[in-house]
Parts: sequence; C-alpha cells; structure tokens
Amino acid sequence: MPPCNICGTEITPAPPLYTIDRFMQPFDIHQCPSCGFLFMYPAPDAGELAIIYSEDYYTASAGKKRYTYLDERKNPAGHRAVNTARIARALRAVKKTFLEIPLNFLDVGCSFGALVQEANALGCRACGIDISAYTVDYAQQEGLDVRRASPEAIPDFGFAFHIVSMIEVIEHLPDPRAALAEIARVMCPGGLLIVQTANMDGRQARKAGSAYHYFLPGHLSYFSRKTLSRLLRECGFEKMQTFYPCEFGLLPKLKKSRGNFKSLRDYRAWPRIAWYHLISKIHRGDFALTSGMVIYARRAGL
Ligand SMILES: [Zn+2]
Repeated sequence: MPPCNICGTEITPAPPLYTIDRFMQPFDIHQCPSCGFLFMYPAPDAGELAIIYSEDYYTASAGKKRYTYLDERKNPAGHRAVNTARIARALRAVKKTFLEIPLNFLDVGCSFGALVQEANALGCRACGIDISAYTVDYAQQEGLDVRRASPEAIPDFGFAFHIVSMIEVIEHLPDPRAALAEIARVMCPGGLLIVQTANMDGRQARKAGSAYHYFLPGHLSYFSRKTLSRLLRECGFEKMQTFYPCEFGLLPKLKKSRGNFKSLRDYRAWPRIAWYHLISKIHRGDFALTSGMVIYARRAGL
C-alpha cells in the first residue's frame, strides 16, 4: 500500500474501513490512521481510468448508469446560472489583486467546457483541461481552448493563470498532491484556486457511513476541510477560506434544478433544495451539518 498522500505515513495493510458493494465492481475505502484521509485502494491505474471516462461515462449507458456523469448539456440554462455565479464570485475575489485585463482562467477537469465558456463570456481568457478524449473533442468543436491532459502534467498555454477551478474533480485523482503542485506551478502568485469536493468530516457523510452517496467508483480521494487545507498549504497555497456548502447563493441552485423540471409539480423540490442550502451553512470549526464544501486558496508568493 502506498504511503498516505496527505501526511506521508506508511500505512500497514489493514482491513478496509468500508467495502462499497452497490456497484458492478465492489471497491474498498481505507483510512489513514494518522490524518484521517480516506482513499480507494486498490485504485484503478491510468489505463482503467481512460476506460472509466470513455463515452459511456457521460451518456448513461446501462452498466454505468448509477454513477454516470450529470450531462450539463441537457440543462444549459441551469448550469449557466451556477457557472455565472461562480465566475462572478471569483472575479470579485481577485479584483483587488489583479488589475490586468483579461484575466487568465483554467478549469481543471473541464469536461464539455461549460465553465470555460462562461468564463469567456464574462471577459476572461479561459482554457480547460480534461483527461477524457470524448469531452475534449466536444469542447474543441465548440471552439474552446480545451486540451486533453491530466492535472499532473498541464500543457503550456503560453501564460500563467490568475484563476483556476477544480469543481468536483480532486476526488477523482489518484495523486492529488502531484496535481496541486502542478497547478501551483502554472498559476500567478496571488492567484485564486477554487476547489469543490465533499467534506467527509461533515455530519452528512459521517452519519451515512458506507452508504454515503459520494462513495463512487470514480472517486479515489476523499477529503475533509482539514486534510485538503493541509495539502493545499504543502503544495504552495495559502489564505484558505472555506464555504459551506458553496461560495454562491441559493438562487443559482434553484435555477439549475428548474432546468430539469418536467412539470409544475417538480417545483415541490425547491423547499428541499433551499432547506439543504440553509442547513449547510450551519458549521462551527470543523463541524458542519452537511458535506458540501468549497475552498478558496491563494497561490503563495505574491
Ligand atoms: Zn495521512
């Protein structure tokens, strides 16, 4: 077993914390006894990952249906509302740090490029990378500057980035430390990194245990605010700021859900979504009621 990706502790092989067996292929989740980091072991290798992110991951074919990707192309207006709120919030956060125009934006794990497109629309010079040939082909056909690459080896776009986002991506990575170090390398000092993932210390995740819906075949690394902040610091980031459940308000979320509604009755989902958003704001120290989390971090060295 490899040493812990967060704290480097040598982990002696032990029975897994959980065996997740609700998918076609069961998998094991282990926990570092020293820092609490959760990870899948054994994890799929690069070849297996390329198979996971082939076309059927995105198009909900039979076998993978229960963990397929939520295709934002089916709800463009809804995703646009969330993406606009996200970029606008990030631009506000860096407006005193960077005066130049345009700001360079990179979405790591950009999939079909919806966030890249929105960042362009809001005046950024926006780029993206993804390991999926299927989604990168699509994004390029849409005219976006999106390249097929892994976050551990980001190609040279010709400039450093002021804003980088990783939205529900870091949990997919076998070596998040290598990825964050590489992201720090391509960023301007003072630049803003936005990371969204589940907070495994949240009460929602703790209470659900092995039934927590975030345990998915493509999710290899599971963080808490503590483990993610530590890793960010060690990879060259500072001034971490955590948002529960995310860095923008309720309205964009309601708009996003509305995009999937088929009839008026579906609006009955709104109170539930609003309730989740509201109780997610309840947190104290490392205690949080739900497991939604976004961290803002600044590239050190300004
Ligand atoms: Zn550890």
